[in-house]
Amino acid sequence: MSSVLLLCGLLLGACAPPGESGPQAQADKWQQARAQMVQQQLANPADARTPVTNARVLEAMGRVERHRFVPSNWREQAYRDSPLPIGFEQTISQPYIVALMTQLLQPKRGDVVLEVGTGSGYQAAVLGELVRQVYSIEIVEPLALRAARDLQDAGYRNIEVRAGDGYAGWPKHAPFDSIIVTAAPDHVPAPLVEQLKVGGRLVIPVGPQGWPGQELVVLEKQADGTTKQTTVLSVRFVPLTRSPDTKAIAP
Ligand code: SAH
Repeated sequence: MSSVLLLCGLLLGACAPPGESGPQAQADKWQQARAQMVQQQLANPADARTPVTNARVLEAMGRVERHRFVPSNWREQAYRDSPLPIGFEQTISQPYIVALMTQLLQPKRGDVVLEVGTGSGYQAAVLGELVRQVYSIEIVEPLALRAARDLQDAGYRNIEVRAGDGYAGWPKHAPFDSIIVTAAPDHVPAPLVEQLKVGGRLVIPVGPQGWPGQELVVLEKQADGTTKQTTVLSVRFVPLTRSPDTKAIAP
């Protein structure tokens, strides 16, 4: 009896009408979920959040397949208005925060951008759609490896990921047109300001863990090396952790 049931289950799956559950239908479903995410969470949010208005950023958010960057057991929730767990006690950020931070970077096609905190690789993918080259550093090695593989599988050839402590930046590829940090330190790392071009923007959550969270700030580097700082909104990010090696050379 049980083998008959099993056979029926297989047959039912195999005989589903094409277009309703095939790969194209699945792709259409994700595409629709992304379009809805862009409209309802980013461009025309129903709540008090500031809408994302940069057309290139909205297009990129509509293109990047976020479901590729979340663990399979969370895939159905990929376009939800929230962060999601990606293992190792880390999260993929809420789509709105990704879009907002990307917009704050004012990305241009020819830019070279540094990301600190690769996580799933999703933010790097969004940037990869918008700029010439992305360098991304992740302190948890298995996450760095997985993100590099997922970005490769998704077809990105302008994103380089490396495992390490991003507090020290990536001097080899500096200076950067802009830098985005997606984990929160309690102060702005000096090496990141140093590795920013004059006129470049550093977008970073700064502040302690726990209540009331951190402030998302934008620092713009001036010709004399100082920065002009703007506070955007309160946010909650995982902490920027430090490796023992770089702790020894930085405050
Ligand atoms: N941008 C990610 C989400 C980041 S979650 C995405 O799109 O999915 C923050 C990430 O920062 C975590 O993966 C965490 O391991 C990493 N991180 C924390 N401290 C770091 C450091 N000093 N250098 C590099 N990465 C760090």
